[in-house]
Amino acid sequence: MTPYALMDRSRLEAERNRLDQQYRQLKAQGLALNMARGKPSAEQLDLSMPLLSAPADDRAFIAEDGTDCRNYGGLDGLPEAKRLMACLLDDRPDNVIVGGSSSLTLMYDAFARYWTFGVQGDAPWCTLPVVKWICPVPGYDRHFGVLEAFGVEMIPVPIRDDGPDMEEVERIVAEDSLVKGIWCVPQYSNPTGAVYAPEVVDRLASMTCAATDFRIFWDNAYAVHHLSDQAAATIRVRDIHEACRQAGNPDRCLKFASTSKITFAGAGVAALAASPANLSEIRLRMSAGVIGYDKLNQLRHVRFLKDEEGIRRHMRAHAALLAPKFDLVQRKLEQGLSDIGACSWTTPQGGYFVSLDVPHGCAREAVRRAREVGVTLTSAGATWPQGRDPRDANIRIAPSMPSLSELEQALDVLVCCVRAAYVDQLLAKTNEDA
Ligand code: PMP
Repeated sequence: MTPYALMDRSRLEAERNRLDQQYRQLKAQGLALNMARGKPSAEQLDLSMPLLSAPADDRAFIAEDGTDCRNYGGLDGLPEAKRLMACLLDDRPDNVIVGGSSSLTLMYDAFARYWTFGVQGDAPWCTLPVVKWICPVPGYDRHFGVLEAFGVEMIPVPIRDDGPDMEEVERIVAEDSLVKGIWCVPQYSNPTGAVYAPEVVDRLASMTCAATDFRIFWDNAYAVHHLSDQAAATIRVRDIHEACRQAGNPDRCLKFASTSKITFAGAGVAALAASPANLSEIRLRMSAGVIGYDKLNQLRHVRFLKDEEGIRRHMRAHAALLAPKFDLVQRKLEQGLSDIGACSWTTPQGGYFVSLDVPHGCAREAVRRAREVGVTLTSAGATWPQGRDPRDANIRIAPSMPSLSELEQALDVLVCCVRAAYVDQLLAKTNEDA
C-alpha cells in the first residue's frame, strides 16, 4: 500500500471508511483486554509454585550460618541470598544488601536518603534550590514517578539502541552541579529493549561531573530476562561498578535488581549492590528503619533458584512462554503498520516491552480509541517525564500478561486505532490546506 502521507484525499477517505467498519466490528466483540503493565502471566507465575511448598522440616528455616530465619536480624541478608542476588547484580556478594520484595522501593529509599541526609557529607538534596536528574527517554514511568514525588526537575535525553546519547549526558553533567543523577536500565531497557554498549558504560563511569555527589541509579531489572538461548549466550553488559572503580569514581553507582519477574512479581526478593563506602552509609541510614528484611523468603528463593545456573534454567522456561508473544507483536506490527509509513518499533532480545513510535501527534488518540473498544494500553506519554511526550508518538507495548489469542486481538485493535488516528490527522490537514 502507498504510505498514507502520499495518498490523496479520496484514497484517504476510502481508507477511513474501511477502518471505521473494522473498528465497529472490533467494538462489537466487547473486548476487555489489558496490555498496560509488564506483569508476568499466570502461567509464568505458576513456574515458581515450588517456592510455596518448601519442605516443612526443622531445617526449613535455618540458614547456612545457623540463622533462624523466623527471627529478627541480618540487615544485609543471608549469606546465601547475597550470593544469589550477586548473580543478578553482576557484583561480589560482599557488595550486596538484600532488601524486601521490591527494587522500586530500594530505589525510592536510596533517593529519599540522599534527599534527606545528603551523600557522604555533602548537602542534603532537599536543601538545594533545585535538584535535576537525567532521564533517558522513552523510559520507565515509575522511575519518573519517584523523581516527581520529590519535585525533581527531569532532563530527558534520547536513548539509542546502545544506551543514552552520551554526548548529551556528558555535556549536561559537566556544566551543572545540580544535576545529581541518571536512571539507567542497562539491559533490555524499559521500554525500548536497548542494551548498553561497553563504551557507554565506560563513558558513564568516567565522565566529568560538576556534582561531587552524582549517582548513577543502575536498575538491572532485566539482567537475566533473555528471550532466546542466543541472547542468553551473547548479551552481557559491562559491569558499571568495575568501570567506575577503574575510572577512579568507585562510589558513583548504585545497582538494583529483583526477582519480581523471575519468581513472583508481588513477593520476590530485591537487592542492591554498591561500593563499601556507599554500603556503610546505606546500612547506617537503613538500620534506623528496619531490623532485617524477610529472611524466610530469601531462603525459599535460594533453595528454589539455587545459583546462576538454576536462574538460567528457570529463565528459559519464562522465555518459552514469552518469546511467542514477542514474535506475535513483531508479526502483527509488521503486517499492520509497515505499509503506512512514519511508524517504527523495537525488536528487543529480552525484557518485557516493545516500544512503538507512531506518527507524531497520534499516540494519545490511538490509545484513547483502543480503550473505547476495550483494550487498555499504557497511557500515551507515560514513557516520558510528567507523562508528556512532546511528539505524542510513543506507545509502550507490554505483551506478557494476555494469552496469545488475547494478544492477537489487542494488537489488531492497536493497529486499527493507529491507522485510523493517522488517517484522521492527514484528512484534517487536507481540510486545513483546502
Ligand atoms: N525497574 C524496571 C525497569 C521495571 O520495568 C520494573 C517493573 N516494571 C521495576 C523496576 C519494578 O521492580 P520491582 O518489582 O522489583 O519493584
